[in-house]
Amino acid sequence: MKENSNINKALAYYIGYSTDDLIRYKASSGGIGTSIIKYLLSTSEYDTSMTFVYDKEKCGYIPKLIYDFNEINICGSVYQDIDIFSFLKENISSIKNGIIVTCMPCQVQGIRSVLDRNNINNFIISFCCSGQTTLEGTWLCYRYMGIDKSQVINMQYRGNGWPSGIQIELFDGKKIYKNNYTNPWRLMHQSKLFRPKRCLMCKEDISYKADVSLADPWLGKYKISDKIGHTMFLINTEKGLAFIEEMKNKSLLRLIDSSVEDYIEAQGHTIMAKDKASLEKKFNNILSKMGNNILYKKIMTLSPFMLRFHMLIIRIVYKIVK
Ligand SMILES: Cc1cc2nc3c(=O)[nH]c(=O)nc-3n(C[C@H](O)[C@H](O)[C@H](O)COP(=O)(O)OP(=O)(O)OC[C@H]3O[C@@H](n4cnc5c(N)ncnc54)[C@H](O)[C@@H]3O)c2cc1C
Ligand code: SF4
Repeated sequence: MKENSNINKALAYYIGYSTDDLIRYKASSGGIGTSIIKYLLSTSEYDTSMTFVYDKEKCGYIPKLIYDFNEINICGSVYQDIDIFSFLKENISSIKNGIIVTCMPCQVQGIRSVLDRNNINNFIISFCCSGQTTLEGTWLCYRYMGIDKSQVINMQYRGNGWPSGIQIELFDGKKIYKNNYTNPWRLMHQSKLFRPKRCLMCKEDISYKADVSLADPWLGKYKISDKIGHTMFLINTEKGLAFIEEMKNKSLLRLIDSSVEDYIEAQGHTIMAKDKASLEKKFNNILSKMGNNILYKKIMTLSPFMLRFHMLIIRIVYKIVK
């Protein structure tokens, strides 16, 4: 883990939360991301940001530009692979003044270049990322939970407490809840059949190019007693440092200093997995082929039992190719 060349690149490490109780509760972790958007939209430098709204027809989330904080949908992390780069490119003419963007680490550089090229002032918030999931992964979970996806009128993966979990609302008013990272999500996620190929090969545990990068503080202290949420975050730019300082001084955020050691402790699993990704290229190529083989995927996802069988197959394949 110490050899990871990405480690120790941030300008500052913090753990904290938004002093707006509603934002803190409704957000993924401590509401730092949402609070930054709210604050920057109140300045003269930024008039545009983005949010994600649930689209019943698509049965998934779609991105939307917003021009006022009241338009934001605070729904926590969206575990669906969304092409934010193309979305922004297609809507570039609708961006007013500066924009605050949220995106995955792999999307930061492309988005920054396109906004810079168009002389659009931008502030980029990114995340620690263990890997994205295709929308079909969510639909598989519905099937395993006996839910008809056409009956889902709203859902979210996180938010409303910490670490919270999947919240699904059906047409008939029924509400379904599953704790974060429990089955069937856990099984679907670990099968890696619903992971975009680029995620299988990805080396970035977090973005050091975004202005601010957010994460969950998976540390003993928080795991045991935190029920509302704290965000662990890294500041990577002078601009990020200046805005966070302003927000601290206006008591919009409550923060304690954190460190690279805390970050490694909290995100050890993700850092290790990303370190191994390039060494396990051959294995990951096989996983990707399995995920892209329609017949194999159809058979192996027939039931949770079959998906566990697939897990056994990949364990054997791993031992052979290692
Ligand atoms: C796909 C994904 C994977 C993640 N994996 C990890 C992980 O492995 N380990 C870890 O510690 N943390 C991970 N995170 C980060 C974590 O889930 C929280 O997002 C983070 O702690 C921020 O919390 P917050 O309350 O400060 O953010 P919030 O106040 O909830 O603000 C987050 C902002 O990000 C936006 N957003 C949500 N989903 C997406 C998306 N898919 N693309 C772009 N913007 C989005 C929201 O609309 C919101 O504006 C991941 C996040 C995502 C989206
Ligand atoms: S795992 Fe890597 S490639 Fe996949 S979404 Fe996260 S940063 Fe992007």
